Amino acid sequence: HELEQLYVHESVENVIPPAAFVEAFDDLPIPAELVGDGREYDSTDAVATYVPRPEYLDAGWVHCIRAGYDEFDTDAYEREGVPLTNSSGIHGSTVSEVALNCMLSLARLGHRYRDHQKEREWWEPPYERPFTLENERVCVVGLGTIGEATATRCDALGMEVVGVRRSDEPVPGVSEIFSPDRLHDAIEDARFVVLTVPHTPATDDMLSDAEFAAMREDAYVINVARGPVVDEDALVEALEADAIAGAGLDVFETEPLPEESPLWGFDDVIVFPHKGSATNRYHLDIAELVAENVERYRSGEDLKNRVA
Ligand code: NAD
Repeated sequence: HELEQLYVHESVENVIPPAAFVEAFDDLPIPAELVGDGREYDSTDAVATYVPRPEYLDAGWVHCIRAGYDEFDTDAYEREGVPLTNSSGIHGSTVSEVALNCMLSLARLGHRYRDHQKEREWWEPPYERPFTLENERVCVVGLGTIGEATATRCDALGMEVVGVRRSDEPVPGVSEIFSPDRLHDAIEDARFVVLTVPHTPATDDMLSDAEFAAMREDAYVINVARGPVVDEDALVEALEADAIAGAGLDVFETEPLPEESPLWGFDDVIVFPHKGSATNRYHLDIAELVAENVERYRSGEDLKNRVA
């Protein structure tokens, strides 16, 4: 369990300031260094990175600074016996607040007033349009760190919270749990469907034509998970046909969302530029997790958040 060096790959700059991240390791028992591509690794090296690279399979341990590690070839890590860890467990409040921000806005119309504010216009919405989250039903699909945090917050706002999860273990604030094969039952009465699952073969296009048809016409989709969990063409069609009322989206099939995407143009679609986890101390939250695993690795303990 020798570990002599922590390498931070420059791709972390996608989400955090690399220098501040490296600095957060000042108290580590091993040195941390910022690196680019074209380096060789050996079993005494740890790598913290945003992107996967084939050469990381020669390292002793690799940490993906994202929660979603779907771009990493987990089979190859298992074959090579190189542990891969991710950053789930730290996105509860950050990402759920983005989900709540979208839900509150879609209900209370903050996004619409802001649109009109640009024209200095005192806009009056139709009487029927604003509503409260209180007493509305929300279905949270995937009750992990983000899903649970979302459910707790929705419960605190007086919503009726149901969820989709593979085990039927109770979750605080969630009144009913549906298994994934009962997705349609879970979503058909919901005013909000919030996606907080990882992107896997089982969740790919989880919401598509049939699901949008099953949903209420006044329902909103909130996707803070991964773009491909929603069939984006089907979503656009459902929005155009008024089969659902709107969406709050932090993630997309293609990111950045292409300029020509119809999703930019709907009054009741809120586009976040994949900023669910963005806060001014995100680098410290990730560093804390990595530092804990450095300790564990060196003392031969199981790594936290091991995904391969
Ligand atoms: P997590 O591992 O704590 O939770 C995921 C949950 O989904 C688990 O409880 C798991 O059992 C459940 N799940 C998996 N497959 C399922 C299925 N088919 N049906 C129902 N439930 C299923 O992870 P997390 O930290 O809560 O993050 C969840 C996902 O959110 C990540 O995988 C990532 O893709 C995404 N994410 C997005 C952002 C963002 O910026 N928008 C930030 C962090 C994470």
